Amino acid sequence: MQRSPYRHVIWDWNGTLLDDLDLCIDVMNGLLQRRGLPLLDRARYHAVFDFPVRAYYERLGFNFRRDSFEQLSVEFITGYEARRAESRLQPGAREVLAALQRAGVTQSVLSAYRGETLHEIVGHFGLTTFFIRLTGLENIYAHSKTELGRAWVAELGIPGNDILMIGDTLHDLEVAETLGVDCVLVAAGHHSAERLRQRAGRVLDDLHQLRSVPGLAMAV
Ligand SMILES: [Mg+2]
Repeated sequence: MQRSPYRHVIWDWNGTLLDDLDLCIDVMNGLLQRRGLPLLDRARYHAVFDFPVRAYYERLGFNFRRDSFEQLSVEFITGYEARRAESRLQPGAREVLAALQRAGVTQSVLSAYRGETLHEIVGHFGLTTFFIRLTGLENIYAHSKTELGRAWVAELGIPGNDILMIGDTLHDLEVAETLGVDCVLVAAGHHSAERLRQRAGRVLDDLHQLRSVPGLAMAV
């Protein structure tokens, strides 16, 4: 199917450009272990992880009367930040970002990560110059990216049909639908391919497969 090239790509960060799945599982297992709760493996993580993150914490068995969601969030983020240097970019991330930039496609990041930390980590990997905007939340509680995305798309002034969102969870798809932009999901992050395919039309196994996406094919 022919379609005109996308003019802008909105990237999710965690799980999409950054491969932090095992780090998230490991840090969360520390919280669970300290409370005698069942631990996560990849399969269970893929099944229970979701936004808003608060509901995910409930599914893990945390008792909010004993530890508040806010306390648990701080404990998780503190553990994650201490070890974030262990995470790597997804295979092909740098190449895809560079190819899109060469093709004149502008790019941004829309993340549930705290904005300040997002700037730091994107800089740490030397990717800052690929993006015209990095947008993160103002706090660590990871509610939703929808409102930030709405403001960003309005500011971009590009028709939704010419914007592609690339993410790794069903939340990214929901955000894209709300914003009226196209979406492609890559099953290399925090949701499994099976879970993504229940709702999404286009699910890729890795970033290299973006070459097959109409509207990106010429660029990547
Ligand atoms: Mg993600």
